[in-house]
Amino acid sequence: MNAHVEETAFLSFICPGCHQEIEAPVDMASQETECPTCAALIHVPDESEPGTLWALPATQVNGPSQAQKDAMKSRTIRIELPDNW
Ligand SMILES: [Zn+2]
Repeated sequence: MNAHVEETAFLSFICPGCHQEIEAPVDMASQETECPTCAALIHVPDESEPGTLWALPATQVNGPSQAQKDAMKSRTIRIELPDNW
């Protein structure tokens, strides 16, 4: 039995304090957490912000290329669920 969770979905958004792009598990939607970069209290949105890693390419027919996705990933900091979640 493999306990690995493959279905984790993420939200991505921009920290209003330091403009760092952040990705957080959808389980943290609507929660408040601390920015990993500037430690500001941030509110995790219900949906990814447009232009961030996990935003749906609603207005783009082809979506971002793999190179664009890689670039977006490399600029995004992932936060994890707290241990006491
Ligand atoms: Zn920040």
